[in-house]
Amino acid sequence: MDKMSDNIFTENPMTQSVNPQFQITADNPPGFHLLSKPSGSTCNIDCTYCFFLSKEALYPNEKSRMSEATLEEYIRQLLESHRISEVTVAWQGGEPTLMKLDFFRLSVEIVEKYRRPGQVINYTFQTNGILLNDEWCEFFKKNNFLVGLSVDGPREIHDTYRVDRGSQGTFDKVMKGLNLLQRHKVEYNILCTVNAANENHGRTVYRFFRDELKAKWIQFIPIVERATSETIEIANQGWSIQKDRKRLLYTQTGNLVTERTVGALQYGRFLVDIFEEWVRHDVGKVFVQLFDVTLESYIGRHMLCIHAPTCGYGPALEHNGDLYSCDHFVEPDYLLGNIHKTHMQDLVSSPEQRKFGRDKLDSLTAQCQKCEVRQLCNGGCPKDRFALSKDGEQGQNYLCPGLELFFTHTRSAMLEMLKLLELHRAPADVMALITAEDIKRGIYQPCPCGSGKKFRFCHGNKNPESQFSKLNTGSVIETNKDK
Ligand code: SF4
Ligand code: SF4
Repeated sequence: MDKMSDNIFTENPMTQSVNPQFQITADNPPGFHLLSKPSGSTCNIDCTYCFFLSKEALYPNEKSRMSEATLEEYIRQLLESHRISEVTVAWQGGEPTLMKLDFFRLSVEIVEKYRRPGQVINYTFQTNGILLNDEWCEFFKKNNFLVGLSVDGPREIHDTYRVDRGSQGTFDKVMKGLNLLQRHKVEYNILCTVNAANENHGRTVYRFFRDELKAKWIQFIPIVERATSETIEIANQGWSIQKDRKRLLYTQTGNLVTERTVGALQYGRFLVDIFEEWVRHDVGKVFVQLFDVTLESYIGRHMLCIHAPTCGYGPALEHNGDLYSCDHFVEPDYLLGNIHKTHMQDLVSSPEQRKFGRDKLDSLTAQCQKCEVRQLCNGGCPKDRFALSKDGEQGQNYLCPGLELFFTHTRSAMLEMLKLLELHRAPADVMALITAEDIKRGIYQPCPCGSGKKFRFCHGNKNPESQFSKLNTGSVIETNKDK
């Protein structure tokens, strides 16, 4: 999770996976974005799709809690490693609030102890929100933490997979946490996974975040859970420990996906559904991470590792000081070393890690290499490259149909925004251009989103009713489905 400064739309505190790579020219990077997992993968809830829960199996005999010695080592090395002035201290899980507040108070003290003159610290904190209280929020506010809150949509959608250990939905508790963040004026963004439960409800989910949660910064993460023919049955049951159930250690293997996984093309449709709403009403007001970084990509700045040509600048730190290539590759083959033995700067710039990052480019399929949106997509994240390409080549991104749809569909509006920028005008002026096109085309013509519905009943409908509960009422409004 990271702040995204110098954003093309405006100053935008968007979180996660921001890639400092556009600044990097040498193997020894001047900065990187380390995700620290102080309580390892331990969590206080039990989201069905969360394969990170299974990573507890990597440290079977340890209580996954970062010691003060590891905390100090981590902060000291992180600050020493940065040759750029901005340093992000990013806390992630599992669930970092399990570490208790004193741990983070100490982390801030340690930062102050080692911070060099001119070093600017950005604190980020990803949480499910359940343990938040006034004390936490006062701390976040006082120290300018940017908090990422995980919400998957309105109650019925959120509670499909985001459940506690008794399989009960967590929506109410998360909303309580959000309310506290708002009351204390803590900066927050919404992190929403895209999965089988919400993939058909892009616009509804987006409107819920914008209108009911008052979110200004939103990030969507596709759920892609891989499995093999041997593991798919167990994988479909979820990744946590359950009575009488065998538990798997999730690894990035297999070319099957669980039933919770977002549909490949549907991922693109979900994004397009939201984009068509955003580009008419919210440019410059609501910041959707993928939309921002896509526009940046047109001018050659790759802010997000997933769609950058190479990666490898986002290592993950476990509670005991083990450093892995990436949070998505916390598995034995990608263990770079331990910061108590080797300085993290040496681990991040090691030949193994540089190769990890370059493999993203070197392993592109022929289909990707000749793809029209390659400069924007760059083949996506290697963790998702387990499908066959159109030519039958192994290693195509599972999400390719959706990625291709999204990048192709949004191109004309993105190019309009770039033109506006060249004229020193705000990208938000694109909304007037789109409205003019809508009027010219007429409300009974097919909606440009590609749904097949008439515009009047699709993105031309400014106040569609949601079939899901409204916040605070708990009532379900029974109306037409939005798709
Ligand atoms: S493996 Fe994927 S998530 Fe990890 S750094 Fe590379 S692109 Fe980013
Ligand atoms: S859209 Fe598909 S083919 Fe094109 S670069 Fe992305 S993954 Fe490759």
